[in-house]
Amino acid sequence: MTDIAFIGLGNMGGPMAANLVKAGHAVTGFDLSPASCDQARADGVSVASSAADAARGAEVVITMLPAGRHVLSVWTDILPSVKDGSLLIDCSTVDVESARRAHAMAREQERSILSLDAPVSGGVGGAKGATLTFMAGGPAEAFARAEPILSRMGKKVVHCGEAGAGQAAKICNNMILGISMIGVAEAFVLAEKLGLSHQALFDVASTSSGQCWSLTTYCPVPGPVPTSPANNGYRPGFAAALMLKDLRLAQEAALASGATTPLGAEAAQLYALFNNAGHEGDDFSGIINFIRGQAR
Ligand code: NAD
Repeated sequence: MTDIAFIGLGNMGGPMAANLVKAGHAVTGFDLSPASCDQARADGVSVASSAADAARGAEVVITMLPAGRHVLSVWTDILPSVKDGSLLIDCSTVDVESARRAHAMAREQERSILSLDAPVSGGVGGAKGATLTFMAGGPAEAFARAEPILSRMGKKVVHCGEAGAGQAAKICNNMILGISMIGVAEAFVLAEKLGLSHQALFDVASTSSGQCWSLTTYCPVPGPVPTSPANNGYRPGFAAALMLKDLRLAQEAALASGATTPLGAEAAQLYALFNNAGHEGDDFSGIINFIRGQAR
């Protein structure tokens, strides 16, 4: 059993903390939202009155927060109260620069504090079912200590490299996802114009070179994949607002590193238009309806 502090008990953090309780760990949590704290209490988490209080005395501190500025602010609050030898793991999706700054803040402490960036893939379903994929960046020693804890919340934990490498893997993966969903959606829209049925396109593409996750798991038309959000009114799933967030993080990183990502840039623009048209809360596969509306 490990004493774990969990800061940020929202849609993802709440069920992740609950899975750590189920695994037999002592979890102390904190969130600014009273409703999230109430749910966590019901799941067996003891709720502290501040992030610093939750972190005091913990062996491992996990943060699961909206963006880089929240992570840097919470780490600034908790670092003075964490004990020597503790491990800080940030599971939020944040920009690579903020992730590296958070690691640097931990390193600059006079005590020995280990840190890891470990964003996740798998969404709320994966958080509830403990089937997330973690992609981690940081020293090997931090990864070795984190791995048994992360594996209670996920099915795969990958060490991607040094500080920030987890966030780099996350935004590269999600840039593939955003671009491939638009590609699959365009193919279905073209098929409709050509009189080809959704099922026929699915049967061919899912077993040939057009095969990809956006087609076979999150198929953007209802029918071929009964569990895809298209069969459920495009309720998320993975919300379009989060896809836009990740595509923008990829574009920031491309700009900062000098990488050329023309399709990533186009995908970010299309998802911005889709979000601005009032679809932030829809599943990201709903972009097909937007593309169909634009088609002549
Ligand atoms: P969420 O908004 O449901 O949860 C974030 C929580 O952080 C909220 O409960 C909020 O009250 C809390 N919070 C904000 N500032 C705080 C502070 N200073 N102290 C304590 N608590 C604070 O968001 P989520 O869906 O749980 O996502 C969390 C992170 O996971 C994000 O970075 C997101 O990009 C990433 N992510 C989300 C999904 C998904 O499908 N929801 C999938 C993969 C990754």
